Order: sequence, then structure tokens, then C-alpha cells
Amino acid sequence: MIESSSILALDGVTKRFGQITALENFGVDIRKGEFITVIGPSGCGKSTLFNIVAGLESPDEGRISHHGKPVAAGDLLGQVAFMPQQDLLLPWRTVLDNAILAIELEGTPRSEARRMAMDMLPEFGLTGFERHYPQQLSGGMRQRVALMRTFLFKRELMLLDEPFGALDSLTRSMMQRWLLEIWRHHERTVLFITHDIDEAIFLGDRVLVMSARPGRIKLEQHIGLPRPRLGEVVTSEAFVQLKRKLLKELEEESMKSFTP
Ligand code: ADP
Ligand code: MG
Repeated sequence: MIESSSILALDGVTKRFGQITALENFGVDIRKGEFITVIGPSGCGKSTLFNIVAGLESPDEGRISHHGKPVAAGDLLGQVAFMPQQDLLLPWRTVLDNAILAIELEGTPRSEARRMAMDMLPEFGLTGFERHYPQQLSGGMRQRVALMRTFLFKRELMLLDEPFGALDSLTRSMMQRWLLEIWRHHERTVLFITHDIDEAIFLGDRVLVMSARPGRIKLEQHIGLPRPRLGEVVTSEAFVQLKRKLLKELEEESMKSFTP
């Protein structure tokens, strides 16, 4: 099998905030087309990792390379599409105008941006809602608007920070299936943070389990489950075994950072 090319690699990345070391000696190589999920106890540096990959923070130590070339963190600004933990929809903008925010800021004329967004509405299940305001939408629809904004900002690498965290489990599982469909269709590379092990296994080609702070990679698990991963996959023996293994690692780390 030919390995796909590296989009972004971190090597030995350490990030401190004063006395606190958020990330320590962190390394990952993200290859074209992959769906990588990241799980770890809260406060272990997941969002810090994203901020570095998005170019919003600079590491104190370590190297970053983009398509094999060494870069400074700041060079990555604007190279990566980033959906932060909160959906950040502006209440005074319609669905359509929220979706085009990132490409409009980038200089796409509003009329053209709106046309591009209109074309994407059906795929994101938002047809007929283009003139609605965020407060008129369900949680799942708001998440789809935020995702549509991230997809419209066409970058090969997308970072999604717990995008389905606020959804009930049924909506969440429908959104997961839907996200996999559009990931395939749009041929993007995804780095996806979650605190949900089932979600990490269901979505990922690889799962990175992070240690308690300072965040390192504790385990990198390849997920060989066939795609599309239909209902029976989540109840299969292979899935349950992966879950048991990852749960053990995650629980060990969570206990370390748990101080009642
Ligand atoms: P996670 O997303 O895994 O919950 P974060 O990356 O948000 O964790 O945070 C990791 C650690 O770094 C936490 O202890 C947090 O308080 C600290 N931290 C994150 N960002 C900052 C910052 N800008 N200034 C100071 N401390 C920070
Ligand atoms: Mg976080």
C-alpha cells in the first residue's frame, strides 16, 4: 500500500503556559485523506494542540512541517479550516450569512459567497432555512451551519473540536454518519477532538489517546473497521474490543487528573 503524503507533521512539540506544561513532546503526522480522532481527559491539551495546528499559538519547543517543509506555527494561519468548541454563530446574521463568514473575511465578494453557500445547503440539510437566524434552529442544525462554514473555507485540513458535544445521542449518531458521507464526498482530511470513545472509534482511521497533562500521545490506535460503518459495526466484537482497550487507557489517564 502506498502511504499518502504528509499534510502536516508535529515533532517533539512542547507548549507551556507559565508553570503549566500543556503539551509535552507531542508528535503526529497527518496524511492526506485521513480522519484522525483525538481523545483525552479534560485539560490534557487537546484545544492547545488545535490552536497550534491552526497557527493561533506557537510551540515553545519542537518542529512543525507542512507538506514536508519546516514552517513556523504562524505560517499555518489561514491554511487550516478550524471549527472551535463553541459554534460561534453570530445571532444577527442569517444561516446563509453565518455560513459565508470565513470566506467573506477572506475577501470573497458577498454575492459570490452566498451563491457558493446556496449550492451547499441541501447537502447540509439546511434547504429552506437560509434566511433563518441561529436562535430559530435546533442544536443539530446550528452545528451543521458551523460545519458548513468550515467546509466552505476550502482547506485540505479541517480541525473539528468536539463538534457534536452538545447533541443528544440520537442526533449525534445521525450527524456522525452524515459527516462521514461529506468527508468522503469532499475528500478532506480531518482532525477531530472528542471525549466520546464510541465516537472516536466510529469515525476514525486512527485514534490518538492523549495522556493527562502534560499531554503526550499515550496510544495511537489504528482502526481497521470497514467503511461505511453501519449499525452492526458498533456492536461487533472488533468494535467492543477496541473500546475496551481505549477505555482502559483513557480511564487510567482520567484518574491521574481527577482530584476530588
Ligand atoms: P483540553 O482542550 O484538553 O481540555 P486545553 O488545551 O484547553 O485542554 O488546556 C490544557 C491546559 O492548558 C489547561 O490546564 C489549561 O488551563 C491551560 N491553558 C490552555 N490555554 C491557556 C492559555 N491561553 N493561558 C493559560 N493556560 C492555558
Ligand atoms: Mg478543549
